Amino acid sequence: MDSKLISGKEVSARIKEQVKKEVMMLNSQGVFPKLSVIIVGENPASLTYVKGKHKDCAECGIVSENIALPETVSQADLLAEIERLNNDDSVHGILVQLPLPKHIDEYAVINAISPTKDVDGFTAVNVGNMNIGKDCFTPCTPQGCIDMLDYAGIDMTGKDVVVIGRSNIVGKPVSVLALQRSATVTICHSKTKNIADKTRMADIVIVAVGRAGFLTGDMLKPGAVVIDVGINRNSEGKLCGDADFDSCIDVVSKITPVPGGVGLMTRANLLKNTIKSAKNCLK
Ligand code: NAP
Repeated sequence: MDSKLISGKEVSARIKEQVKKEVMMLNSQGVFPKLSVIIVGENPASLTYVKGKHKDCAECGIVSENIALPETVSQADLLAEIERLNNDDSVHGILVQLPLPKHIDEYAVINAISPTKDVDGFTAVNVGNMNIGKDCFTPCTPQGCIDMLDYAGIDMTGKDVVVIGRSNIVGKPVSVLALQRSATVTICHSKTKNIADKTRMADIVIVAVGRAGFLTGDMLKPGAVVIDVGINRNSEGKLCGDADFDSCIDVVSKITPVPGGVGLMTRANLLKNTIKSAKNCLK
């Protein structure tokens, strides 16, 4: 079974080793990569994600700062904080943890981040540049999916790729990245008819739906590759993906596990993007 798993632990460890080397190189040239994370309110999941991000930075020698703002912060104050960070030359990456409270316009906040420090790759400028294949910060989770396929030696050229999910943070950008690798991409969503007919034709299925066990083995062609982006809790409270691992494992040639899969890649790519930004200072 292990030979079928594409391990996020292995791939992210490789990225982290590279990041550590680049941090040392940057330090020797007087650049100290720094990530500033803004968190609004005390959403427990967000607090956990942010803690993980600081831990990863510490492990790799990246300076990180946490800016915790109250749930009641005004949009104007939040935007002012972002502007301060945009103008602070010691800060290379700015990340605003989502979701934001309802009284704040998420689009306005994300697009207040300087595109040159947008290490999440969520600003309209970076999304646009990604779409036209220009240099940009690619969003961390979609990039992580592609990194895992690369690591497993899967050439996407001419492959039929079905993406289930069309969110701005996963489904759409991963579809663009797969298209850039010359895959033939089909995007499915909640209004798609007969999804199983489409997935049964796919060489690679990337599933980002947010429903435990949504993709089952009988929806796959034998030998298909499954990239499982989902992070859910099953009825027993156990962490699981969008693919029903037990029914998929006998059918697939490769699959990413949850936990230990794409989630770790998201974290690793945030570090990679922060280093990319710091390296831009040397140019
Ligand atoms: P999202 O914004 O809720 O989007 C879910 C997508 O799935 C939507 O496009 C929706 O279609 C589609 N969908 C929902 N029910 C469906 C159904 N029955 N049939 C077909 N499509 C359906 O979620 P997201 O932010 O993309 O996240 C998706 C999953 O990935 C979640 O489990 C999330 O926790 C996980 N995630 C993981 C990472 C990571 O680091 N591993 C990062 C981000 C997200 P419509 O557009 O038509 O509504």
